[in-house]
Amino acid sequence: MGAQSVIEQVAAGNAYVYPRSKHEHEGTKLQIVKAADRKYILAEGSGKLIDELEGETANGVKLCELSHANRLVINKFFPFTVPQAFGKQSTTIGLGDRLGIAGPGHLQTVKGRAIHPILAQQSIRELALTGRDYKQVIDAAAYAALQEGYTEGYGADGDHLKKEEDIRMSLDLGFTMLTLDCSEQIDNAAAQADEAEVNRKYEALPEAVRTHYESNYLNKTFTAGSQSIHFDAATLKRDVLVYHEAIEFMVFIYEKYIKTADRAVDFEISIDETLTPTAPGSHFLVASELNAKNVDIFSMAPRFIGEFQKGIDYIGDLAQFEQELAVHAAIADHFGYKLSIHSGSDKFSVFALVGKYTNGRFHVKTAGTNWLEAVRIVARTNPSLYRKMHQYALEHFEEATAYYHVTTNLDNIRPLKEVTDEELPKYMEENDARQLLHITYGILLQAKREDGSSLFRDEFFRTLSEREEDYAHALKKHIGKHLDLLGVK
Ligand code: ZN
Repeated sequence: MGAQSVIEQVAAGNAYVYPRSKHEHEGTKLQIVKAADRKYILAEGSGKLIDELEGETANGVKLCELSHANRLVINKFFPFTVPQAFGKQSTTIGLGDRLGIAGPGHLQTVKGRAIHPILAQQSIRELALTGRDYKQVIDAAAYAALQEGYTEGYGADGDHLKKEEDIRMSLDLGFTMLTLDCSEQIDNAAAQADEAEVNRKYEALPEAVRTHYESNYLNKTFTAGSQSIHFDAATLKRDVLVYHEAIEFMVFIYEKYIKTADRAVDFEISIDETLTPTAPGSHFLVASELNAKNVDIFSMAPRFIGEFQKGIDYIGDLAQFEQELAVHAAIADHFGYKLSIHSGSDKFSVFALVGKYTNGRFHVKTAGTNWLEAVRIVARTNPSLYRKMHQYALEHFEEATAYYHVTTNLDNIRPLKEVTDEELPKYMEENDARQLLHITYGILLQAKREDGSSLFRDEFFRTLSEREEDYAHALKKHIGKHLDLLGVK
């Protein structure tokens, strides 16, 4: 069906109009409509805005695709659709949307609450697994803001970036937050080496490096809030070995890209993708070094004690978690930045603690759970598609574990043939089934038949387009539960 016939339909009033999407600029009125299962901008009137939008004109209206080019036009005339930075005094939540369709539901969730959404948030890994690019990620977020009439601003996070080329690209495309992944500069082997090995490697460091750390930290005790942090020789040597190169990398990236940026950028440091939890003392050392070098950061993501697995609740000793969280939060507060909680989806048993110890100055990242809510809609409304996806995910689970660390036991998942259609959504309440579908998203979305057509993708998106209100409602409920527990009013 060509644009001409769609425009005829729209002109005849056969289109759904998103009620909050009506906007006006000088002589142009526009709104977002849906016709023949696709969304468009419908513009009418005269002036620069309608002239600059690309689209088809008939009967005095212009029907415009939700394209990248049109998003840039929308950005120019409606500044609230441009991603923005929020700074260190804010409460923020990362709402990664691998499908590009969760934005409206996310905005309905945060609307009226004291929190800013980082709507656009994807890692390079997620882009590769979903076959998307960073332009599409911001396009989806900007159009969501337009559709919902959400004028309070949203952020865009280049998540877990490791390479300079990706950092440069994300900043050039308008990302307003950068999460620097330092996992390639962190020496995990040193974290687990025995004392003799630590001594040997430490002595091999340049003398200037050793002198720097020893004169600043050795046998000293620091305080952050009511917490104290002490560095004896063994701890300090190990920390220097594990983090020195990563600290240099953080400083380098800050100096080269963040400090020189033509706009504010929320700079997050992530040291969470390590083999061992980040000891509070190690966090302090990294923070103190960044502070001494005038590196101004938005937030830091340590790896917390226990397991923060994707899409399921916290696994571990809550009392110990609380004890360490208190120190991590005090360190963040001492240096003036926010604590960031990665893999924050569904960590219901720790949210109240996070809200309490950070006094609401946190960044919590979610991503996969938003995809799982979409899968839940499919399970409820298109059982045959769900069954095919579930089966395919089981057959391809091993491949997906190359990208994600989970402890899923497939034997715990009830066999599909024993489950009635009505019971299918219940899979989304079981940890093993959640993880099965959580980590196989890329494989499912990219799966193709022999003739190259998509195995699930097209039908999946069609189902969610038909059920978009259900999806928005589900996100409101599920992410809303996160916010309630985090204490976000
Ligand atoms: Zn992370």
